[in-house]
Amino acid sequence: MPTMRRLYVFCFRIVFSCTVLPAASFAQSASAQASPELPKLEHFDSKMADPALDPCTDFYQYACSKWMKANPIPADQVSWGTGSPLQIWNESVLRETLEKNAADDATRGAVQKQIGDYWYACIDEKGIEATGAKAIQPELNRIAALKNKKQLAEAIARLHLIIPGAESPDSNQTDAAVFGFSGQQDYDDATRSVATFDQGGMGLPSRQFYLENDEKSQAIRKKYIQHVSNMLVLGGEKPKQAAKDAATVLEIETAMAKMAMDAVPRRDPKNVDNKMTLAQVEALTPSLDLKKYLALVDAPASPQYIVTSPEFFKGLEKLIQQHPLDAWKAYLRWQLLHGEARFLNKAFVDENFNFYSKTLYGAEQQQPRWRRCVRAADRDLGEALGQAYVDRAFGPESKARVLKLVNDLKAALQQDLQAQDWMSAATKQQAVVKLEAQLEKIGYPDHWRDYSSVKIGRTSYVENVQHASEFEFRRWVNKIGKPIDRREWYMTPPTINAYEDPQTNTINFPAGILQPPFFDKDQDDAVNYGAIGTIIGHESIHGFDDQGRKFDAQGNLHDWWTAQDAREYEARGKCIPDEYTQEVPEAGVKQNGLMTQGEDTADNGGMHLAFMALESALARAGKDMDAKNSDGWTPRQEFFLSAANEWCDNERPELLRTQVLTDPHSVAKYRVNNVVANMPEFQKAFSCKKGQPMAHENACRLW
Ligand SMILES: [Zn+2]
Repeated sequence: MPTMRRLYVFCFRIVFSCTVLPAASFAQSASAQASPELPKLEHFDSKMADPALDPCTDFYQYACSKWMKANPIPADQVSWGTGSPLQIWNESVLRETLEKNAADDATRGAVQKQIGDYWYACIDEKGIEATGAKAIQPELNRIAALKNKKQLAEAIARLHLIIPGAESPDSNQTDAAVFGFSGQQDYDDATRSVATFDQGGMGLPSRQFYLENDEKSQAIRKKYIQHVSNMLVLGGEKPKQAAKDAATVLEIETAMAKMAMDAVPRRDPKNVDNKMTLAQVEALTPSLDLKKYLALVDAPASPQYIVTSPEFFKGLEKLIQQHPLDAWKAYLRWQLLHGEARFLNKAFVDENFNFYSKTLYGAEQQQPRWRRCVRAADRDLGEALGQAYVDRAFGPESKARVLKLVNDLKAALQQDLQAQDWMSAATKQQAVVKLEAQLEKIGYPDHWRDYSSVKIGRTSYVENVQHASEFEFRRWVNKIGKPIDRREWYMTPPTINAYEDPQTNTINFPAGILQPPFFDKDQDDAVNYGAIGTIIGHESIHGFDDQGRKFDAQGNLHDWWTAQDAREYEARGKCIPDEYTQEVPEAGVKQNGLMTQGEDTADNGGMHLAFMALESALARAGKDMDAKNSDGWTPRQEFFLSAANEWCDNERPELLRTQVLTDPHSVAKYRVNNVVANMPEFQKAFSCKKGQPMAHENACRLW
């Protein structure tokens, strides 16, 4: 991914969770060793439901509390759920491949050499320790050599090239230095890419972290400023100067937070689709030498430039004028050290962990190095590494079964679209055209990315990361002005996640999530429709959620709704943010249902579609939804138990707070309870009565 986050790719699930395997089985060395045993995956087990509880009071507790009691959070994790063992399983498979290729052996092919050397340099803690802060000195020198503010553009370009994007949400590389830049599919002409300037520049997870004044927010900022100061000291500053510079950094970033567009208006593509000529962009921030920046990142000429938030770039002009060059140098030093800390010696890694993993997400211990190296390799060389994962974990049989499920879910959506009594025939027809054009991608890409130009060596981990980041940044920039490739993936094959992209009109399911407990070839239909079925449904519905519906079959931001139908949609859709705007007591903060509206709409529609698809599948097979199986459950009940099971998750309060404030997804409990409480199908399954918490009186139903 580029340093700028794609705005309209909708993920299904973010796995924050991982675990620690017995330390003895993982020596911290790159030498060949016996592969550790793969961890045991979770499989759905209906015995995990707690008969002592009432499913109509709190279904999440009913389905998950036994599992959650039996599975506390390991010290190096910020959450632990039924999908967590799969995360370790996937990483272990990658690790085997990396280790196998780590020996300096002349028989290795080019790809094996690349991934093997990457692993060797990353796992070599002794070598990294011996080099210490010297590894980042050449980059610090570049910043020190800046002579005037006109050269800021050069320094920013350099940071954009060498700092990677996020490999996982808790890695917290959330924003590019000062602003973001990339190639992006044009909102109005889905066949091509245009250049996009985005807001950025902040080290905390969202603008609220700078602007809210409650006690908790103030305490986090106090720790943040100390962290910035500690990092600057590690980068070679005297403590007194570092403390002063940290205050400057917070001042600059707070100003950026004030200028930046909030997450809620940013959800609406119309608000960020601001097209300009290059001269117009330059006029927003004349102090920034944009021509120089574009030349340094080799940006092709763009037919137009999108500026997601012009106000941010106007504000940036004032900010550049207001602060002297030395203040900007301090800010750039911090951005550099922040972006590269994870790839440096232990003092940097620990300091970064203390703030980002501990303060913001509640982790108590660092994950073992092998896991951090596997995820970095997946981020940097993901499609080279992913081929071995697919060979091992995702055969043609699984692909065929998942494709069948996807087709069943699409048929359910087609049926659902036709059944809407509030939609006119004209809009329905357009909706069906869009659904039929939706392309599904399952498992892995048809063509694997060629990384042969990325220079990877055995001696410097941080340089390897910088080279891979530069490759990735340039790859995105190079798309500008060129046609779009719908077959390209934005996630690597072992990723436990899925996404819909309204601009390519695709739904995408990496092989990493097509495993137990999400997809389990040994389980019956009710279990699989409840688990992976709701995920597939969720992604399909994104094309018709409150923002996704604004894109047409070709992926253009083009209104295909009649005015009356659009009004009806808005009126019905509003039920969802009204319901989800709620206090989250475990997190100590309030959820903003307008920020999570798209995901909540997809959660509700997705589970409904999966249920419809299960009904059809059982009807075709001549099976009864209400016939009890040997465990005493009916398929109707098992579907919901399985849908809840994939969300069973223990979470640290720090994670919950940060998640509620920044994540467009609701937290696990509400992804189950709020959805089932909107479903008469659920109330029938568990005989819930009117007035019980899991039977909403004003149930939302859009799709
Ligand atoms: Zn989603």
